[in-house]
Amino acid sequence: MIYFQSLNKNDLADLLLPLGRVKEERDLRDLPEGDERNSLLKKIEQKKIKQAMMRAKQIYHWVYQRYVTDWDQMTDLAKEIREWMKANVTIYRLNETYAKQSLDGTFKFLWQLHDQKTIESVIIPAALREKIGDEVVATLEDGKRYSGIETEKAGLDNDLNEDSWARLTACISSQVGCAMACKFCLTGVQGLDRSLEAHEIVTQVLELRMRAPITNIVFMGMGEPLHNVKNIIKACQIMLDEDGMNFSKRKVTVSTSGLVPGIEELYKHTDVSLAISLNSSTDEQRSQIMPVNKKWPIAELLDACRKVPLGTHRRITFEYVMLKDFNDTIEDAHRVARLLKGIPSKVNLIPFNEHSGADFKRPTDKTVLDFQRILLKQGYTTTVRVSRGRDILAACGQLRSLFGTARGTEKHRDFQPVNE
Ligand code: SAH
Ligand code: SF4
Repeated sequence: MIYFQSLNKNDLADLLLPLGRVKEERDLRDLPEGDERNSLLKKIEQKKIKQAMMRAKQIYHWVYQRYVTDWDQMTDLAKEIREWMKANVTIYRLNETYAKQSLDGTFKFLWQLHDQKTIESVIIPAALREKIGDEVVATLEDGKRYSGIETEKAGLDNDLNEDSWARLTACISSQVGCAMACKFCLTGVQGLDRSLEAHEIVTQVLELRMRAPITNIVFMGMGEPLHNVKNIIKACQIMLDEDGMNFSKRKVTVSTSGLVPGIEELYKHTDVSLAISLNSSTDEQRSQIMPVNKKWPIAELLDACRKVPLGTHRRITFEYVMLKDFNDTIEDAHRVARLLKGIPSKVNLIPFNEHSGADFKRPTDKTVLDFQRILLKQGYTTTVRVSRGRDILAACGQLRSLFGTARGTEKHRDFQPVNE
């Protein structure tokens, strides 16, 4: 069985090509071998390719922009095409095991795959954007307000002309578990079960979009995306396709622990944004917490980053998990600033989230802010991933308003979060 969500638009058109019929085919019957016949054959072939591409577009619109998952409802498709698709191509659905709203304002979804394994996706709401007078003001969940150029300093994309006042980021998984064994990461402790297929990756976003007007996608859930690069590329192509999910390349971010060959491979086939989990300021330190560094040390990783064809106005995000008394000193901050010199970059500091799988501790807020100040002084946009501790009721209220004002050209079901 072929899963629809594993097909990029060209794959789908290839599949549809043999089903094509054009009226010129009738004229072939009376035509003897020769130039005239050959040129007609060529014309027929071209018409069929065009027709298949058109049909692929139509179907893409139905599924990715109108969220129709029943072939019978695609009324502008010829009946024979619908019947063929119904018999041969499945529109995949994920089984929602639960959706719950956590204390920090995010919505977590647990999906069950067809082999009963489960994965998680998360919706992270951020930055309520409002137009006040002539100015766009962004309010973060902690109540801090930013306006104008400050929004960029705060790491909010400064697309002031866009009428999207909120960001709803879908954080999705690329594997069940992860093989990279980073010492601070709960998924790493668990090990790899299996990689996700392209349709399982794409459908996480599709399911979330049926429930809420998602504006951004980050591959920061379970798994190392570039350890599953073939399927990630397919998924990204569908996410960026204007007839598909139609996300801008700035709004889809692949985060990697640093699989160097995967970075090159990714950019051969698609053009999403990149985040690198740097997490250390020296190789010695990084190898202790991220085994991948032994194979692909910092210098090689940053070299690969320099070669990424980013174009103007785009930057690579460097994530830095801050571990108390391990990588959180002033010297570390200066070293990070030196390492990133010459790379269009922004830094995202992530104070360690403590869990039972690792002995590391979270640094104090002061340590994090001192670290941030140094990077800011060196000219790097540096954000701290906010830790949010609001009670459920407040989170609920805010979320509802965020969901209501987020840009949503598409229709979506009323979103009914299940409170803990
Ligand atoms: N495998 C990819 C993407 C998923 S992890 C990667 O490593 O980039 C997403 C981010 O969460 C990474 O930057 C990782 O360093 C960070 N992370 C993992 N465990 C963490 C924890 N316990 N506390 C804070 N950040 C963590
Ligand atoms: Fe965790 Fe990412 Fe490391 Fe995998 S690569 S163990 S998901 S931090």
